[in-house]
Amino acid sequence: MFIGCHLSSSDGFLPMGKTALSIGANTFQFFTRNPRGGSAKPFDKADAESLVALLQANNFAPILAHAPYTLNPCAADEGLRQYALDVMKDDMFRMDHFPGAMYNFHPGSHVKQGVDVGIDYITSMLNKLLTPEQKTTVLLETMAGKGSEVGRTFEELRAILDRVELSDKMGVCMDTCHVFDGGYDIVDHLDDVLEQFDKVIGLKKLKAIHLNDSKNPMGSHKDRHEVIGGGFIGLDALVRVIKHPALKDLPFYLETPNELPGYAAEIKLLRSK
Ligand code: FE
Ligand code: FE
Ligand code: ZN
Repeated sequence: MFIGCHLSSSDGFLPMGKTALSIGANTFQFFTRNPRGGSAKPFDKADAESLVALLQANNFAPILAHAPYTLNPCAADEGLRQYALDVMKDDMFRMDHFPGAMYNFHPGSHVKQGVDVGIDYITSMLNKLLTPEQKTTVLLETMAGKGSEVGRTFEELRAILDRVELSDKMGVCMDTCHVFDGGYDIVDHLDDVLEQFDKVIGLKKLKAIHLNDSKNPMGSHKDRHEVIGGGFIGLDALVRVIKHPALKDLPFYLETPNELPGYAAEIKLLRSK
């Protein structure tokens, strides 16, 4: 099983690989820069190459970068939309140093403009961002539907994917806390939810799972992550996720409220199931 967690990138690339190994992980996620925005550190190519060597030597699954969650590709303000594109362009350049890596982002919030306008802005940004040469797969994250977030339903994600020209560069990252908060019953009806995903988007587009429990009940639209087994999804349902035939070969990334020892314990627990 490929499993890891979100790690801090503040010490550079290679330290993340070493940390991942020390907690029993064989993949991980990290923010490309300060998650609240701002500029990234200068790119250290030698550090990136050291990490690539470590990943290959230890048979890691593709690593997953996460765009700053403050970016809003469907903001009403043109400057904010341009900023999202500029940051993601720079991230794409950085990520191409990690062959096979993936890059996850939140589709954004349409803030009273309506979901259709939001989807228009997101797709036009993606059509400016993606290039035929890039090696990185860009993932839309399933969202909880907090406020005016786009991407709560599989239909909204499909509408985006349908209008992206280089759609083979795109995939979806399913966040278990978000889909559950968004109203999909992955606890009692996981098969049905996956069947719906397959019908609307296609399971072959599903490239990664954010494995989180939720502090709130199904359909709450809250997006508050909980430790594995400590929330409304529960350990049994999350074990069914990692063991499901349609999901078991995907990489799983924990984004639970933990420090490293907590992550190590969750990885050990999930591997033992
Ligand atoms: Fe996220
Ligand atoms: Fe997530
Ligand atoms: Zn979340």
